[in-house]
Amino acid sequence: MKPTVLVTGASRGIGLATARLFAANGHPTVLNYNCSREPAFQAASEINASGGMAIAVKADVSEPEEVAAMFEAANEQFGGVDILVNNAAIARQSLFTDVDYDEWRRTFSVNVDGMFLCCKAALPYMLRGHRGNIINISSMWGQVGASCEVLYSATKAAVIGLTKALAQEVGPSGIRVNCVAPGVIDTEMNSHLSPDDLRALADNTPLMRLGTPEEVAGAIYFLASDNASFITGQVICPNGGYIT
Ligand code: NAP
Repeated sequence: MKPTVLVTGASRGIGLATARLFAANGHPTVLNYNCSREPAFQAASEINASGGMAIAVKADVSEPEEVAAMFEAANEQFGGVDILVNNAAIARQSLFTDVDYDEWRRTFSVNVDGMFLCCKAALPYMLRGHRGNIINISSMWGQVGASCEVLYSATKAAVIGLTKALAQEVGPSGIRVNCVAPGVIDTEMNSHLSPDDLRALADNTPLMRLGTPEEVAGAIYFLASDNASFITGQVICPNGGYIT
């Protein structure tokens, strides 16, 4: 059996494209969702109907008990998680002076604590097997910072730090940890932006367009593959050249 993958935030966007790509390549796939039950179950049943193996599992990644229950479900169904894609995140644009402490805590708890909890749940099995792959999704705003997205940028910078340090710690145990930092991708996360704002972002991208979820999924898939067997602690940037 091919390595099992668990993708957090797989009900739409980059997470869904990633889950579909792994499943289409024969990986038993766990699609995590929090609020969007219907699309996650629909995607899992489509994968199963086309000969793949998938389950959809609800967990708010910021809740320790829900994360533990999700990994139990994955273990029961597929025997363990070999590839963890920490993708779930939330974002909201606002002036830093308008962000209150509750929003600060909530965003960190989904975007960063969620990764902590999922890595903690995945690592014992990976350490026992002396192999495993963790891919954390950051953002180019975590690399350079974005005005009106200070909170989001701070969480995404934390993801890069977590990736680099954890890669050092678990590399000797045969586990690779990498990060994907996309540019502007055409998903629901950007649906609040006006057509003019989206055009301006595309114009600021050297490839003159937004990226697709499938293009980010391709980078994630590569990092999890044996083609990337000597790559760890790195940040790969599918961003159309927006930042270099
Ligand atoms: P999206 O379309 O908004 O999807 C977000 C996903 O995260 C959904 O499946 C959502 O599921 C899930 N999620 C949110 N809160 C959750 C929680 N507490 N527990 C579990 N799942 C939760 O976002 P996207 O654009 O695909 O982004 C995916 C990743 O790429 C994120 O890490 C984002 O920061 C990063 N990224 C995106 C862009 C971009 O331009 N789109 C650029 C750079 C980086 P439910 O609806 O079920 O809650």
